[in-house]
Amino acid sequence: MADYLISGGTGYVPEDGLTAQQLFASADGLTYNDFLILPGFIDFIADEVDLTSALTRKITLKTPLISSPMDTVTEADMAIAMAKFEQGFITDPVVLSPSHTVGDVLEAKMRHGFSGIPITETGTMGSKLVGIVTSRDIDFLAEKDHTTLLSEVMTPRIELVVAPAGVTLKEANEILQRSKKGKLPIVNDHDELVAIIARTDLKKNRDYPLASKDSHKQLLCGAAVGTREDDKYRLDLLTQAGVDVIVLDSSQGNSVYQIAMVHYIKQKYPHLQVIGGNVVTAAQAKNLIDAGVDGLRVGMGCGSICITQEVMACGRPQGTAVYKVAEYARRFGVPIIADGGIQTVGHVVKALALGASTVMMGSLLAATTEAPGEYFFSDGVRLKKYRGMGSLDAMEKSSSSQKRYFSEGDKVKIAQGVSGSIQDKGSIQKFVPYLIAGIQHGCQDIGARSLSVLRSMMYSGELKFEKRTMSAQIEGGVHGLHSYEKRLY
Ligand code: GDP
Ligand code: GDP
Ligand code: 5GP
Repeated sequence: MADYLISGGTGYVPEDGLTAQQLFASADGLTYNDFLILPGFIDFIADEVDLTSALTRKITLKTPLISSPMDTVTEADMAIAMAKFEQGFITDPVVLSPSHTVGDVLEAKMRHGFSGIPITETGTMGSKLVGIVTSRDIDFLAEKDHTTLLSEVMTPRIELVVAPAGVTLKEANEILQRSKKGKLPIVNDHDELVAIIARTDLKKNRDYPLASKDSHKQLLCGAAVGTREDDKYRLDLLTQAGVDVIVLDSSQGNSVYQIAMVHYIKQKYPHLQVIGGNVVTAAQAKNLIDAGVDGLRVGMGCGSICITQEVMACGRPQGTAVYKVAEYARRFGVPIIADGGIQTVGHVVKALALGASTVMMGSLLAATTEAPGEYFFSDGVRLKKYRGMGSLDAMEKSSSSQKRYFSEGDKVKIAQGVSGSIQDKGSIQKFVPYLIAGIQHGCQDIGARSLSVLRSMMYSGELKFEKRTMSAQIEGGVHGLHSYEKRLY
């Protein structure tokens, strides 16, 4: 390649940064924190960035986000919320009370960017709806009016068009169309607020329906199974229930057991998409691709709860694992899932830039409202439990996790994970939109209009990376402040 690239009329720009190939040419394994992506040229808005990505050979998702098959992350609530969170019910909107002021609405507008706020008796969800305030109610007020009580400016309950809890999105859409208003509060039988719908979201949904559906308009659903004899029974039940994709759940997927299971599923249910794994090398990937998998899950020992590398001496830093496996698997049209070690939205962007088509998250989605388990308090902090499926704790409670991490004959159980807790993150109804917007902004800075453009920029060498020294990592974090508050969205 030429040493110099032509840039417009002002002369030559020297080559700068490393291609992915150069970045991973050295023998050192790299994690997401060990490198950065150099910014590119922006000529589009972030909202336009297309996040469509392949989960398997045949299944495409509208967003590249998957929740991990772990008993403290994904049960029905999480699965349903992940599949259709974008449908538009905002289940924990910003709410105020009649004794809040116009100033409070303006502050909410500044902080969150919207001003359509339902008013309830106590100013919280689940309390009686008493009115609504929107931009039109406060736009023309003077500075001195900021102390005006919302009870004076709100449109009172009696004049509001609302919908009953349980309303479908289609019905809600029709009600909004008829009412010509911007927000539709949803109330239960006691007239207590349970959600709101914003007209802007319904419009977006009409134009970009994000939920990933099959040909019958059913939401897509995946499930994990092991590779033992009795997993075949679970497989039968799952297919009867209409599962679209099966994930073979193993911490080291390159085994005769997994290969036999792939053959078995492909022969019995040829239409089912099968994701194999986990793998971290091209050699492991080869065996599973040869066996016929439609997708691969990549990651070993990088999970937040994981002690595999410490105990088994096996694993791989996740940046290198994702790049190496993706680079091999793409020749066979097999998409990969970057599984584990995602701590920030920046890590998601990096995983996708290294060739992953989707990312799987455990700790990032744990302790959300939709994650299984009850909240508890410790030292005044609201927490939910999060544990590795290979922790002794999970093992004692669940036979399926035993199978992932232990052999039946094992006399001594060796833990591959820990059990801990994570601070309350609120609902994924807010968190996932934050992740999506964050990925779009990352792609915008890079100059990639879509995730497929991002990947082709990486493979063509146009996308440039740079290694981060320890001091670069410190510089890239918040530093030198006496104290600060980190609010992400
Ligand atoms: P507004 O008329 O100023 O309220 O703004 P829009 O209705 O045009 O846009 C509000 C956007 O913010 C929509 O996409 C909502 O889904 C989103 N949003 C997220 N959380 C909330 C919330 O708590 N309240 C409201 N009103 N909107 C929210
Ligand atoms: P905006 O375009 O963001 O200001 O929001 P809307 O179109 O939702 O609201 C416009 C006006 O109608 C404001 O004064 C609201 O308080 C009021 N409003 C909102 N929802 C209703 C409703 O269901 N019924 C009536 N009568 N007024 C409403
Ligand atoms: P996280 O997103 O929390 O960093 O990682 C989640 C991933 O860690 C899961 O998707 C799974 O692949 C992996 N994992 C879950 N439990 C365990 C465990 O006990 N041990 C190991 N080695 N990995 C685990």
